[in-house]
Amino acid sequence: MRRKFIAGNWKMNLSRAESVALASGLAQQLGDATDVDVAVCPPSVYLDAVHQAISGSHIALGAQNMYHEAAGAYTGEISASMLQDVGCAYVILGHSERRHVLGETDAAINLKVQAALAAGLLPIVCVGEKLEEREAGQTASVVKTQFEGSLAGLTAEQMQQTVIAYEPVWAIGTGKVASPAQAEAVHADLRKLLETSYNSEVAAAVRIQYGGSVKPSNAAELLGQPNIDGALVGGASLKVEDFMGIISGARA
Ligand code: PEP
Repeated sequence: MRRKFIAGNWKMNLSRAESVALASGLAQQLGDATDVDVAVCPPSVYLDAVHQAISGSHIALGAQNMYHEAAGAYTGEISASMLQDVGCAYVILGHSERRHVLGETDAAINLKVQAALAAGLLPIVCVGEKLEEREAGQTASVVKTQFEGSLAGLTAEQMQQTVIAYEPVWAIGTGKVASPAQAEAVHADLRKLLETSYNSEVAAAVRIQYGGSVKPSNAAELLGQPNIDGALVGGASLKVEDFMGIISGARA
């Protein structure tokens, strides 16, 4: 049985004080509940402060990106061990904004995924098609290429530690959400890919989140689909009430 996993991607939003207030508010509201896994991914400069704010709670900390090298002359970059040092358990890799705004390729993402796993960080690896690709009927092939490229070379054990996030680019931050049927179809394809690339045990174990305009009002229906195991949430993760509403949707 895959436990639902709700992660908040705060992107480049909030001040330090706002980040701490949001993290503290969530920790308070979540209390002792452990039926849903929850993580927050603040901007890297606030990871330490947020880590302190959630200490003693069941909320895990995640980063939004990292570099694949362990250390050295890579100005502006952050390594997996540095993220662990400030309390991160997870790292989002290959988010569509990094793919399409910052030019990250599947090969670059794969290096990061390998480095994260080698260091003991759990990657949340994003895949998803652009609107023109969906309209051209290319969704399945785009997602397959990203899956094969970003996750190349992972052992079965490493794959089981990895979370996949299906995030159709046209649904991110746009208010346009994929219908539960549209999302479920891609999640089912991804699970088949896991089965053919690995085996049925791996396919049954890996959690696949949906991301793209998830909010309290649509969370329960999306999260009720058989192959949707959680959500990667952008905009609605910036308010305690909205994020908690999505967590409630995971329990429905
Ligand atoms: C995201 O950035 O991962 C995301 C899904 O954003 P939003 O929820 O705002 O669409």
